[in-house]
Amino acid sequence: MDAADCAYCGDFQDMPFQCNYCKDPFCAEHRLPEEHRCVKLTQIRAKKFGQIGVIRDGEKNKGSFFKRLFKK
Ligand SMILES: [Zn+2]
Ligand SMILES: [Zn+2]
Repeated sequence: MDAADCAYCGDFQDMPFQCNYCKDPFCAEHRLPEEHRCVKLTQIRAKKFGQIGVIRDGEKNKGSFFKRLFKK
């Protein structure tokens, strides 16, 4: 990506970070969607909620693993 101003704070960047979601250039400080109030943030959050379900399933498996240990 070419040099550009951070779309959030306007700082000039020789090597700007490009947001994977809104494709705007940002400085290191504002490259994360949370840091520049990304217009796509609501969509990302929806995705994260999907991931939480997966994490909970993993915790369930961990619980049964520890139960097995206690039985011994
Ligand atoms: Zn910035
Ligand atoms: Zn963004």
